[in-house]
Amino acid sequence: MTKYILIISLFIIILLFTRIEKSHEPTYFDFIKNKKNIPLIKVLIKEKVNELKVTIDQKFRILNKELIAIRDVKTGISNGIIGFDKDSRKLYIKVNNQKDSLKVSYCKMVIPERTILQIGKEKYLGSVIIYVNEKNKLNVVNELDLETYLLGVLPGETFSTFGIEAIKSQVVASRTYALSESLKRQNKLWHLRNTTRSQVYKGMVKVHPKFKKAIEETRGLVLQGDEGVLKAYFSSHCGGATASLDSLPWEKNAGTVMLSRKCPWCRKMKPKSFYWETRFSIKKIESALKRQGYAFKTLKFLAINKKDEFSRVLKLEVFCSDKKFIVDATHFRTTIMQATEKLRSRMFVMKKEGAYYSFKGRGWGHGVGMCQYGSQGLSKENWGFRQILGYYYLGAKISKLYE
Ligand SMILES: [Zn+2]
Repeated sequence: MTKYILIISLFIIILLFTRIEKSHEPTYFDFIKNKKNIPLIKVLIKEKVNELKVTIDQKFRILNKELIAIRDVKTGISNGIIGFDKDSRKLYIKVNNQKDSLKVSYCKMVIPERTILQIGKEKYLGSVIIYVNEKNKLNVVNELDLETYLLGVLPGETFSTFGIEAIKSQVVASRTYALSESLKRQNKLWHLRNTTRSQVYKGMVKVHPKFKKAIEETRGLVLQGDEGVLKAYFSSHCGGATASLDSLPWEKNAGTVMLSRKCPWCRKMKPKSFYWETRFSIKKIESALKRQGYAFKTLKFLAINKKDEFSRVLKLEVFCSDKKFIVDATHFRTTIMQATEKLRSRMFVMKKEGAYYSFKGRGWGHGVGMCQYGSQGLSKENWGFRQILGYYYLGAKISKLYE
């Protein structure tokens, strides 16, 4: 009897261990196979910090700017500090209170494949570049292949509850956007930020199987516009119609690909705050304008000066006691008011109410290019990702850049 109990217990123990082992399998590493032809992307992951807490549990190598090895750290580091001396602007690594000056102000940490680099609480794959910036602070850049990068983009830019064709559309748009920025900024220290100012990138995070599938099944696919790889803009929900590319003050030409188009699908998806309201006091608007360098005495009133064919505000006219002038609506929303969370889009009407201006609007984001909730609406109507992309990026070709 005891013998049987022993055998059964042994069997249970073996079963238990196999299960534990399986659930710890680092499948993330196996997602992107054969990285040979994939372009590298440089993402700014930390800006203007004083020091970093770094953990790497494998050996790694530190290179200087000329890519010559300056350290081989055989044992890895646990909770090491990377900082710099303000006077000499030279980087150092401090482990267990032992400070080792690297004698450079720029270095690249090359981490072996399948090894995770941890900075604070965040985890990264690929290499990490650390340099002292002109403000005497540290900037940190994660350099990794474009496909692995996308695994860290999707959790911040789409939802696993979205249809697979909507997610695939997002992958192709995100891949294209990142690639176009990397080509435009190839001689810069970094290509993209990790926030909505470029596109959200969370480093190595848990990946939903749907995201993995969407990346694998669209591997290497990018959108090509009139002038090569498209700067594929996208935004959360357009409010009923997308905006034309040249409605963004820094884009000079409208081109033919990202023009204003009707989008009845995002509203049907009932995104959070599709309809929104906010208000600002006239005093607040006045001081915000003055802070941005507009010189005038007293703000009297605001008026909408120009709209696009779908009622998106393009220009505002500012009437003051001593002058009047025109401001761009994107500039007003993002730079002057610094209120992209409150003044969620340019699709609004406004009204003076005593000492306040109230704004009532629809949608969230600049509205140019693909409407993310709209793409979900279309996937529900059984559109494929090529059709969805074809609607928001009119006439753009989809080509496979690498196998
Ligand atoms: Zn839309």
